[in-house]
Amino acid sequence: MAWNEILNHESAFERFQRSIDRNRLASTYLFVGPAGIGKRTFALKLAQSLLCESNNDSPLMPCNQCPGCQQVVAATHPDLILVSRPAKKSIIPLEAFIGDKEHRRQEGLCHAIGLKPFRGGRKIAIIDDADYLNQEGANSLLKTLEEPPPMSLLILIGTSEQRQLSTIVSRSQIVRFDPLSQSQVLEILNSKSIIENEDIPLSELANASAGSLSTAVLLSDSDCFEFRRRLFQQLATKDPGQNEFAKAIIDFAESAGKENSLRRDRLILAADFAITFYRQWILTITQAQVDPDRVDPYLVNITQEAFGDSAEDINQTLDQVARCIERCSDMQRQVRSNAGFANIVETWVRELGWISRGTTTPAV
Ligand SMILES: [Zn+2]
Repeated sequence: MAWNEILNHESAFERFQRSIDRNRLASTYLFVGPAGIGKRTFALKLAQSLLCESNNDSPLMPCNQCPGCQQVVAATHPDLILVSRPAKKSIIPLEAFIGDKEHRRQEGLCHAIGLKPFRGGRKIAIIDDADYLNQEGANSLLKTLEEPPPMSLLILIGTSEQRQLSTIVSRSQIVRFDPLSQSQVLEILNSKSIIENEDIPLSELANASAGSLSTAVLLSDSDCFEFRRRLFQQLATKDPGQNEFAKAIIDFAESAGKENSLRRDRLILAADFAITFYRQWILTITQAQVDPDRVDPYLVNITQEAFGDSAEDINQTLDQVARCIERCSDMQRQVRSNAGFANIVETWVRELGWISRGTTTPAV
């Protein structure tokens, strides 16, 4: 993939180009932005550029032909260390950083990044899913972050700065990535056959994607697509706290499979949808001018009908909606660290109802 196929991230590209031109590349970067917008692709492209063995005019233009370039694409480059959360785990295991019990400090990222580069002239490590780094994992990285080996580069990839441990954030250069526009998502969906199930038109998937390619792919499952719409309708009533609705959310999570991690991801997605809903509520009542390529017409209609002509005190409503968003983030934190999903979901939707109505009692 060429840089010009990495849509929407020109400012990050220019930033790295400037740093490399001035020979001032930092040793640790934290990439943040929503899932499914190309952060990992960007990190891999950067790694390929830095490990390319051809003498190019521009250091950020990998030749795509040399062994180094090809090994990066095949994920077999000896100087590129890739760490991510295993499919069925809720965290990145400590072994990934410092080796298993029998090989402590002799294996894992922290050991590998300190070795002399084999062929690339540099060691590059990419930690995907940094949201799933726990305290123990982060602690194991501290020495590497504080005393980075010469010619090493560490890139952590997460969804937001707030989700990272402060020990990591304070030692990293933050690079923010914006969501794609809906037309950019549609362009990618049209050019690559990544959607197998074509029940839902690609343009509707792009509209509902919130600028994330991975969300568009999830929504191509019509159950997921319908669930999102039902969630919006229910939140618009300001009374999502009925047991049958909590049950619908749990069913949605359970339909992902038997693994807790799959169910957890679904609940986090449900809360992401709810956050999208509440943000649109704010845009509606403040009558904010927004780029139509970045809002879902379906959601705009729902919030316009429910709240467009509201006579309520706007400041009070804004405060309530902001608290609903905060409550959704709380729910995501709870889901990440607990397994009692049913309770968490029931309390979540009940409290969303209370907060959005500005009461602490059930709807009459
Ligand atoms: Zn090359």
